[in-house]
Parts: sequence; C-alpha cells; structure tokens
Amino acid sequence: SLTIGIVGLPNVGKSTLFNALTKNDVLAANYPFATIEPNVGVVGVPDERLGKLAELFSSQKVVPATVSFVDIAGIVRGASEGQGLGNKFLANIRESDAICQVIRVFTDPDVVHVEGKVSPRDDIETINTELVLADLQTLEKAIPRLEKESRKDKERAALLQAAQVAEQVLNSGQTLFAAGVDPAPLRELTLLTTKPFLYVFNVDADELANEELITELRELVAPAEAILLDAKTESELAELPAEEAAELLASIGQNEPGLDQLAKVGFRTLGLQTYLTAGPKEARAWTIPVGATAPQAAGVIHTDFQRGFIKAEVVSYDQLMEAGSMAEAKSRGWVRIEGKDYVMSDGDVVEFRFNV
Ligand code: GDP
Repeated sequence: SLTIGIVGLPNVGKSTLFNALTKNDVLAANYPFATIEPNVGVVGVPDERLGKLAELFSSQKVVPATVSFVDIAGIVRGASEGQGLGNKFLANIRESDAICQVIRVFTDPDVVHVEGKVSPRDDIETINTELVLADLQTLEKAIPRLEKESRKDKERAALLQAAQVAEQVLNSGQTLFAAGVDPAPLRELTLLTTKPFLYVFNVDADELANEELITELRELVAPAEAILLDAKTESELAELPAEEAAELLASIGQNEPGLDQLAKVGFRTLGLQTYLTAGPKEARAWTIPVGATAPQAAGVIHTDFQRGFIKAEVVSYDQLMEAGSMAEAKSRGWVRIEGKDYVMSDGDVVEFRFNV
C-alpha cells in the first residue's frame, strides 16, 4: 500500500506528531493479523459518510480507508552528501509515495532549533535543497549512461530528454513537484522530488486561528497543501475520550483534530479515492486510485472479484442519502448497472456481481 514519509529537521516535532498518529493506529482494531512495523503508523481516514451508511444499513461497524505514515529520521544539512543518516534517509524517502515535511513554527526557548532560529521559509529551503541535490546526483550519474544507450535505442531517447529537462529545473533550485514536472516518464530514475509534497506546520496552539499566519504559511508552499497543527496538543487529544477531546479542541478554536485533516489531505495527496460498500456486517470505505475501473475496484476486495467480474450496481452516496433507502433509490432509477469499462467515482456505493 502507498505510504507517506514524514521528514523534517531535528527538533521540529516529528516524533511528537508520529506518536500522536500511532495512538490513532487503526491496524490493531481492524486488521488483527497485520504486522505493525515500529516506524509505520496506519491511521483511518475520517469519513462521515460511513456513519450515515451504517445507520441506513444497520451495519455493526464502520471500517474507514487508511493511510500509512512512515517516520523517516535524520535529515540535516548535508544529508545528500551522506551527513547524519544521509544515505538511509534518502533510501527511506525513495520508498515513500509522498513526502510530508514537518516544519517548526512553534517558539519554545527550551527546544533548541538546529539552525539557531525559527524560520519556516529557511527550513523548507534547507530540506528542499538536500532533496534537489540528491536528485541532481542521481541525474549526473544517469545522463551519461542514457546518452550512450539512446544512441542505440530510440526509446531511451525519451527518458534522456526528460532527464535533461529535470536537471535544468533542479539546477534552478526548484523541486520537480513544485515545477509541475510529470513524474511518469522519469519513474525509472526514482527521483525524490517528483513525489507529491504536503506540509505540516507545527504551530503554537494559540496561533492556530491566526488568519494572517495561516495565509502566509499556505502561500509559502502552494500548490502543495498545508496543515497547521500543534503536535503537543494532538498527542494529548489522541489520548482523551471523545467528549473531552472535543472540549480541548474547542478551547483552541478548532473543530477537527489536525491529525484528521492530515489523514484526509495525505490520502488526497497520494492520488487516492474511495468507494463504499454497506451491509449488516459493516459499512466500509475501499481505497482505489483515481481513474480505477469497476473490475479494478472489485479486485481491492478480493482478486477473485476482479477475475470473475460481471457487473457493478452503483449509486452515488448523495443520491442514496436523498432517496433514504436502497429500495427507494432503485425505484427512482438511481441505481445504475455498470460494466467492466466503468470508471469509479469517489463516493460510489457499490455492490459487485461476479462469477466464482
Ligand atoms: P523531532 O526531533 O522532530 O522528532 O522532534 P520531537 O518531536 O522529539 O520534539 C522535540 C522537542 O520539541 C520535544 O521536547 C517536544 O516536546 C517539543 N515539541 C514538539 N512539538 C511541540 C510543539 O508543538 N510545541 C512545543 N512548545 N514544543 C514541541
């Protein structure tokens, strides 16, 4: 499954955030036989549609989609040259499908800042520079090889050209993601900065509602998405019973935990969406890439469902809710029969028909 690597300078609150995430770990509850790795946190993607579906179908439980975060230790200035845990760090990022940068905004004289001062802009620059340099190293090795290969093989010429364009972008100091470079033709090179980025700004709780700060930080990283949260408070929230958590949230002017926002934004950043199933046992969200067809979607439940796919009965969540029951949705003609070429939409409520 796809993972998001959490990176950031030392002392920015990565461990605090990661610990809060693992307190919300859903693996233990829903996937009792899964192996849980110490540096991976699997969190549920909050989806209020599931609760509503569970009411409609008298489901015993809800099972949300999940998103996995990997705690990647060790970025420091010079990581691209092997400083600190440089090489291990880069290898870990290479295995991630998206990069979540944690940036310190909180001020605390007791927590040393490695660069001497709190400056989100400088810290983003430091991290991006290491990632850009690492990609440039990859390209410096790859390009001469690709030049040779493309003399004999036309197909290699396309990769060479993409690599040369990427090198130019990186030399200008930009990440390939920020420059909007298509990752597809470059895939073989496993570059770091083609991956989608998202940002977590670790902010003092009393600044969370500061509109000016919110705007400033969002603009700093646009078009990447940004979440502002207070990692310390998130870690407390994760341990409180629902009612007290809601009170604590309200006291800092928030209506949703930062971790919930992070799960949702992370899921979206990975290019994922969900379709829904519901019955007396469970109401459940299933994860598919944007663009998945009905048989591919069925394959997420079971490979046999994909192989034996016949058709899907599909109603959009909104129409199902408007109808008030599956029977009523059917009688209004809102439950469609879709074949193997159907491209799934987020929020499709589905029942598959298949041969076994
Ligand atoms: P890491 O090195 O990035 O993993 O950072 P840690 O999570 O270990 O945090 C470093 C220090 O900063 C610890 O003493 C944390 O308690 C503290 N810290 C983390 N997040 C916050 C925060 O939001 N506010 C304040 N004041 N301190 C924080």
